[in-house]
Amino acid sequence: MNIQVKKPITSGFLESVNLMYDRAIELLGLSDDVALAIRNCNSTYEVQFSVRLRGELHSFKGYRSVHSEHMEPAKGGIRYSIEVHKEEVEALAALMSYKCALVETPFGGSKGGLIVDPSEWEPHEMEKITRRFAYELIKRDLINPSQNVPAPDMGTGAREMAWIADEYRRMNPTDINARACVTGKPLNAGGIAGRTEATGRGVQYALQEFFRHEDDVKAAGLTGTLEGKRVVVQGLGNVGYHAAKFLSEEDGAKVVAVVERDGALFNPDGIDIEALKAHIHARHSLAAFEGATYSPDGAKGLEHDCDILIPAACESVITHENANRIKAPLIIEAANGPVTAEANDMLLERGVTIIPDLYANAGGVTVSYFEWAKNISHMRYGRMQRRQEEGRSRAFLQQLESLLPNGLDAGLKEKLESGAGEVDLVRSGLDDTMRAAYVAMREVRASHPDCPDLRTAAYMVAVRRIASVMDLYML
Ligand code: GLU
Repeated sequence: MNIQVKKPITSGFLESVNLMYDRAIELLGLSDDVALAIRNCNSTYEVQFSVRLRGELHSFKGYRSVHSEHMEPAKGGIRYSIEVHKEEVEALAALMSYKCALVETPFGGSKGGLIVDPSEWEPHEMEKITRRFAYELIKRDLINPSQNVPAPDMGTGAREMAWIADEYRRMNPTDINARACVTGKPLNAGGIAGRTEATGRGVQYALQEFFRHEDDVKAAGLTGTLEGKRVVVQGLGNVGYHAAKFLSEEDGAKVVAVVERDGALFNPDGIDIEALKAHIHARHSLAAFEGATYSPDGAKGLEHDCDILIPAACESVITHENANRIKAPLIIEAANGPVTAEANDMLLERGVTIIPDLYANAGGVTVSYFEWAKNISHMRYGRMQRRQEEGRSRAFLQQLESLLPNGLDAGLKEKLESGAGEVDLVRSGLDDTMRAAYVAMREVRASHPDCPDLRTAAYMVAVRRIASVMDLYML
């Protein structure tokens, strides 16, 4: 029997999250009992199961942690990685609670993880493993549309979510809301347009919002807009790829370095993200990419001179060891927990602005919320109003055109005439969410002179919201 279990490592990730939480509690002046009730992870289920693969039984270990249930379902992704361990899952579940509260998605916080290296297994084997893990969780209501709703995370995507949804449907054939048991599904399996890009899109909207606030931009030692800003992206997975793509293609930013597991690429004129993605897909490596200079030393990339650093891979990549070598004046945490608590303080001391993870990468769960609501309503967004909107706009534009000697610009007319489809509504809802959450953080920061940074402000907004719900319902 092959045991697929690695010795757990303690990353200090959970301590970092709790330290940042404690800082917010102090400023909020919350009573100790409430503070503790929110801080603690409610439960962590640990499961070990075996699957017959390649003629023998292989054993896998997985977790599903529920951090908070003040609102249900609890929400949070499932991660597949050989590095998964209990503390990591609990830290990520806690972050989900705070993240959901900050962006006002009506969920508690949860997270799951399976110790597996997906690259070691064929797709049909991954399907067997995923279905079995899902079965273990579903039978304990740790996957359930009204109690606990997973989503993609590192190492998982739409494919795994489709398998999970199908497993739930098989086990609950009479549940009319079965599809809402998991989000991040493919469109043809109950997913929503714009979910795959959502976290990267949210990073883009977060940065756009940041650059709308001149004072904040100035405090970071920057000026102007995103146009021409030099960006370094660490991790070109789903989140890093979409963030880099949108910022370079739509906002005029230049991706001057990309860091991956096998090194870093540099180009002061900007890297073509689509071309690089195609190269990585074909070669599984950054090396030999023609549009940039390659170095096998990835650390160099993180420490590269730039305006904006986007860590978009995993936790604890900026620690006390490299924090003082980071040159970026602005860091936006597209990954969960990329900066340790110690590094956070070292960077703050140096005046670096950090847009924190619970805000910066909340685009994923925001669009998950839209998908879950869509599944429960059983109707695609925009289906009822799109053509009606178009009819009204057309009538209005015809009248307007008859009054104008040169008519209307054809491009503008087409834009004004078209009603919003699902992806337009999803992006609009996400943009609105990211703007509102940023403003909420700013306001709290402005009203608490002792609040040192956006992260503490984000925790303060989130914890205050969770506490107000607990205050209503806890006995
Ligand atoms: N795994 C993502 C996160 O960490 C998405 C969670 C979700 O959509 O539930 O935010």
